[in-house]
Amino acid sequence: MAKLQPVRGTRDLIGEDSRSHIHVIDAARAAAGRYGYTPIETPVFEFTDVFQRTLGETSDIVTKEMYTFEDKGGDSLTLRPEGTAGIARAVLSGGLQNEMPLKWCYAGPMFRHERPQKGRLRQFHQIGAELIGVADPVGDVEVIALAAATLDALSVLPATTLELNTLGDGESRDAYRQALVAYLEGFRDRLSEDSQQRLDRNPLRILDSKNAGDKTIVADAPSFSDYLTPDAQAFFDAVRGGLDDLGIAYQLNPRLVRGLDYYCHTAFEFTTDQLGAQGTVLAGGRYDGLIEMMGGQPTPGVGWAAGIERLSMLTGPAPTGPRAVSVIGIGAAGEKVAVKVAQDLRQSGFTVELNYRGGLKRGLKRADKIGAAAAVFLGEDELARDGATVRNLDDGSQTDVTLAELKDHLAAYR
Ligand code: ATP
Ligand code: MG
Repeated sequence: MAKLQPVRGTRDLIGEDSRSHIHVIDAARAAAGRYGYTPIETPVFEFTDVFQRTLGETSDIVTKEMYTFEDKGGDSLTLRPEGTAGIARAVLSGGLQNEMPLKWCYAGPMFRHERPQKGRLRQFHQIGAELIGVADPVGDVEVIALAAATLDALSVLPATTLELNTLGDGESRDAYRQALVAYLEGFRDRLSEDSQQRLDRNPLRILDSKNAGDKTIVADAPSFSDYLTPDAQAFFDAVRGGLDDLGIAYQLNPRLVRGLDYYCHTAFEFTTDQLGAQGTVLAGGRYDGLIEMMGGQPTPGVGWAAGIERLSMLTGPAPTGPRAVSVIGIGAAGEKVAVKVAQDLRQSGFTVELNYRGGLKRGLKRADKIGAAAAVFLGEDELARDGATVRNLDDGSQTDVTLAELKDHLAAYR
């Protein structure tokens, strides 16, 4: 048997970790709902081709990070490293191309074989939103506004900065890529090993290299804004104007690129300086080429994804639910009645902790541990008068009530 350890880069969500994870998802769903985005769930694995073709053979994800395996039927499958490619696949396989616009939000696990560290796992989780079928920059603005609303709902918006860039259209990108490669060729020997490889395969990625030497070289690289076609410039201006109209502040970052090959026009990230090296909390952009790349009609799309683990680190403890009432049966007869009383209270909407066995002392210890607001004692005396004793666990005061009065009396503790 394998040793009893979680696989490196994975972790269990227990207690507070689990609560804050769910809190992030709930807040994201609620914000998405206000913008008219409904939930979508796609499988956690897909045919490898879905990612290989769309993410680009040269992206870091495809070359280094994918969990790919052959299943028993001989198909090559891959655990999804991100959500967008599977969603695009769902549009095509579900024949949804006449249902535009599609407005979706999602949450779930993603898998990348990376070096685990703070804020970087091998199974991590994302929330995300996709707007498919809207070519107009008003779509980019809405999607960014939803991202900001989500961060705001989690009270982390003030801890982040929205960084914005454009990757232009195909024509702008080709012209820029040429200029960038021409410039970087002059420094080939001084680039990091990774970036030397990127220079041949995916030069734009060098722009967001974390390597200090690369950074100084990149600082003087040609600027994308000088290579934008008038159309691409107009698109970017419209996005910026739309954000200004909504009062959404941003900083231009000409070095911001997305790691995946299917992005165009708008690229954005919400970053923070509160998480050390893994400062990107939420990242997104426009991906007009994606669905066509998968064999569909040209279909515009724009969206984002955010790491739940990184968001959880920013949000701190999640709000707790309603405080419990502990129902404590004392003696065999009391325990029996306690089961029914607990069931009745639960069906009436109370949060109820039942002590199974062990009497008053253990019941109170447990009540204290879970932070219960009140305890309901059901012992011999209480049963004799068809009643219960309710103890307020904050001030210790006790009240005798009849079982018929119990619910009304406990209403104060809800
Ligand atoms: P990075 O530069 O940090 O590797 P990325 O460009 O690979 O990020 P995206 O693919 O854009 O990231 O994913 C969007 C978000 O998902 C990230 O901003 C981050 O919050 C989260 N994320 C990505 N990879 C991981 C990971 N391995 N562990 C935890 N969260 C992650
Ligand atoms: Mg990455």
